[in-house]
Amino acid sequence: MRRKGVEEHMEEKVEKLVIIGSGPAGLTAAIYACRADLEPLVYMGTKYGGQLMLTSDVENFPGFPDPVLGPDLIMKMKSQAERLGARLVQEDVVKVNFKTYPFEVYTDSGVSKALSVIIATGANPRRLNLESELKLMGKGVSNCAVCDGFFFRGKKVAVVGGGDTAMEEATFLTKFATSVKVIHRRDELRASAALRKEATADPKISFIWNTVVTDVLGDGKVQGVRTKDLKTGREDELQVDGLFVAIGYDPNTDIFRGQIELDPKGYAVVKNGTESSVPGVFVAGDVHDFRYRQAVTASADGCKALLDADKFIKQKLEVKVVS
Ligand code: NAP
Repeated sequence: MRRKGVEEHMEEKVEKLVIIGSGPAGLTAAIYACRADLEPLVYMGTKYGGQLMLTSDVENFPGFPDPVLGPDLIMKMKSQAERLGARLVQEDVVKVNFKTYPFEVYTDSGVSKALSVIIATGANPRRLNLESELKLMGKGVSNCAVCDGFFFRGKKVAVVGGGDTAMEEATFLTKFATSVKVIHRRDELRASAALRKEATADPKISFIWNTVVTDVLGDGKVQGVRTKDLKTGREDELQVDGLFVAIGYDPNTDIFRGQIELDPKGYAVVKNGTESSVPGVFVAGDVHDFRYRQAVTASADGCKALLDADKFIKQKLEVKVVS
């Protein structure tokens, strides 16, 4: 096999920055990267846009006095990044190699080399896997009380789950809803003592134990849920206007396993803001942040990751010029 000459090596294209992900974190990083002259290559994923693509009205993203649809907000961010010169590729990253430098990012159509990588692959809210849940998503079914709670003023809602998120969602929803029923599959909450105490002490919140939701009812909007008591097998119908599914999130980190440090739940571990365990690989948004999980905090994180990556890339380029 012929070995590559030095010149061929030098001609090999090395991206300054590859961004993986196209939710608010990835696209904000892309916008800032263009402005920093980093000519980012963005692997958006085949199903691009992240959780906002499944959200209807967004009323809490600053700059939009009228509600903006989640997918429209993503399209606006995408157009802004494109106009500034980002190269957006609608492909999935299937593998990365951060043990070599420049880093390697693989898709089905080839490999890109990069001086720095920003991981912004997000997290997926777990679903009940009911057809009716998907059909009524954004029409009464939600995964985010902070985003959608406002629409349930004076209404009755149910929350599924027994963890911290479910307790936070239930407590937040009491600001608007007249009653909040927490439906949990066991008779014991997983949530931390403080959140548990707050939720159980709230007069608007009541609990339905050992019970699962088997169907979401309603045509065009949620009108109720069908439930099943796991102990007695008894089936019931509960009239509610909204269903908040809060049964946890799965961070999209499968391809990074063994490449960067992940916590036991699979979230990327970060230090000093946005640094991963590999120098030059930065992390932004829900892929590490299980606490805030907002479009605006993901965007802010994308900006921070880019500022950190920019500093790293500058140092690398300075070293290259000197040597
Ligand atoms: P979680 O701790 O994994 O809890 C998920 C809950 O949903 C559990 O109660 C689980 O039931 C239930 N569940 C899971 N799959 C289900 C299904 N298919 N049908 C019905 N119920 C189902 O998830 P999380 O509450 O989102 O928390 C994730 C992480 O973020 C945790 O480490 C948590 O401490 C952290 N967090 C922290 C804060 C905070 O500090 N303020 C806020 C939110 C989250 P079982 O109990 O029976 O397994």
